[in-house]
Amino acid sequence: MKYKRILLKLSGEALMGERQYGIDPDRLAEYAEDIKTITSKGVEVAIVIGGGNIFRGVAGASKGMDRVQGDHMGMLATVINGLALQGALEDAGIPTRLQSAIKINEVAEPFIRRKAMRHLEKGRVVIFGGGTGNPYFTTDSAAVLRAIEIEADVILKGTRVDGIYNTDPEKDDKAIKFNTITFDDVLRKGLKVMDTTAFTLSQENELPIIVFDMNKKGNLLKVVAGEKIGTEVNI
Ligand code: UDP
Repeated sequence: MKYKRILLKLSGEALMGERQYGIDPDRLAEYAEDIKTITSKGVEVAIVIGGGNIFRGVAGASKGMDRVQGDHMGMLATVINGLALQGALEDAGIPTRLQSAIKINEVAEPFIRRKAMRHLEKGRVVIFGGGTGNPYFTTDSAAVLRAIEIEADVILKGTRVDGIYNTDPEKDDKAIKFNTITFDDVLRKGLKVMDTTAFTLSQENELPIIVFDMNKKGNLLKVVAGEKIGTEVNI
């Protein structure tokens, strides 16, 4: 395997499957099988999960809700998703720990870096819930932050699109995909990979990001094995 320790970022929307809202248990089970394939090959897997399938602070704020309160709701949504993912992983026989950035001790361990790293060394999947624990941030920022903290080799951003294109491939059938691209070029071309805070944190720490289609079975293994599917952002 090319990568020994990875941080997988899954958006909340990825968990919806074909639904418009909430969590699709079949999709979760598929993800769990893909994750099992790579953990059985000795890859250490940490996951940051989003919350957009349940609640986004910005959406609440646009309707007059207090932004910070909305973001607290969004962070709790990521813990709900984390619990669902933990359940699916454990059903697949993978030992898993959920660590939360906000204290919620009855349902999840608090985030403790050294403990997280120890879990990974022991072959447990670690899910980081609660984002960064701060309002006005996203789970993409949490993904980069945790990846740096746990010294992950790479961030794998699993999406429903198979990489980064020069224009939106869902709207433009002439869109061209990049196999690799530099951080500078992403910024120069105004492409959307992650929000700017998350993206520049990754750039400053020289942490590569691979965007790939997580919904195709077996893709996760291919990426971790070093196959050039998706788009790699590097320095
Ligand atoms: N959130 C937050 N701080 C964080 C991470 C998340 O306040 O560090 C809140 C924010 O309201 C966000 C919501 O949680 O909209 C869900 O996270 P995100 O939008 O990143 O989820 P995704 O788009 O990946 O599903």
